[in-house]
Amino acid sequence: MNKQSSSAPSPRTRIRRLAEKANYEQQTLYAVIDEAYLCNIAFNDGTSTHCIPTACWRIGNALYVHGSNGGRLTKNLLAGTQVSIAITHLDGLVLARSAFNHSMHYRSAVIYGTFELVEDKQAKIAAMDALMDKIAMGRKHEARPGNDKELAATSVMRIALEEAACKISNGPPSDDEEDLQLPVWAGVLPMSIQHGEPIHADNGALATPEYVKNWAQ
Ligand SMILES: Cc1cc2nc3c(=O)[nH]c(=O)nc-3n(C[C@H](O)[C@H](O)[C@H](O)COP(=O)(O)OP(=O)(O)OC[C@H]3O[C@@H](n4cnc5c(N)ncnc54)[C@H](O)[C@@H]3O)c2cc1C
Repeated sequence: MNKQSSSAPSPRTRIRRLAEKANYEQQTLYAVIDEAYLCNIAFNDGTSTHCIPTACWRIGNALYVHGSNGGRLTKNLLAGTQVSIAITHLDGLVLARSAFNHSMHYRSAVIYGTFELVEDKQAKIAAMDALMDKIAMGRKHEARPGNDKELAATSVMRIALEEAACKISNGPPSDDEEDLQLPVWAGVLPMSIQHGEPIHADNGALATPEYVKNWAQ
């Protein structure tokens, strides 16, 4: 993807339906990914088509996932299977005056391509550290690092962010002209993911790290 592009990087990423909501800028894609903890990966294993949710994170111009070596998802990704990945943030419910015109506020991304294995051990450890940083900045220095056995059992994979599109919906209700005078409340019900109060495990007597104390704020 270009840094600032108003055109789709490929025919299959060109948003046709409500094209005015399309966004092909790299920074928009990065922002959608960086705020997400999970993505949904669709692939066909030769027998059927699957769509599997999994954790994701970004380093540079690549999206990273990891998985058990023995898992079907991992095996298919490592076999170079073509994938389509969806990431969605739901930001609100849009209540129009007619049932037909109800919609949602969202930021979503669809990414295409194939994954590659992160083979280099240092790059693999750095990628896992980046995931830990995403979960809680600083925690990688506190948690026991993955040992050789754990690292060997896990595949870290990345897909280049070259072929992707974002779609952003954030406007007011789009009512038909003849419905505007109807005595029906219209507007947006915003929504977002909330951070809850941390729940201590049975070692709660330990000092609480800052990233836990600040979690719910
Ligand atoms: C929370 C949410 C709720 C939605 N609710 C509905 C609904 O109820 N009904 C409905 O029809 N649509 C809904 N959409 C929009 C939906 O995601 C599709 O954009 C829409 O259905 C058109 O799909 P299409 O394949 O016909 O579009 P096309 O414009 O033909 O798609 C062409 C290409 O554009 C890209 N693309 C399409 N949609 C998206 C997207 N959302 N984000 C990023 N890239 C995209 C893909 O690369 C796709 O191959 C919703 C989206 C979100 C995020």
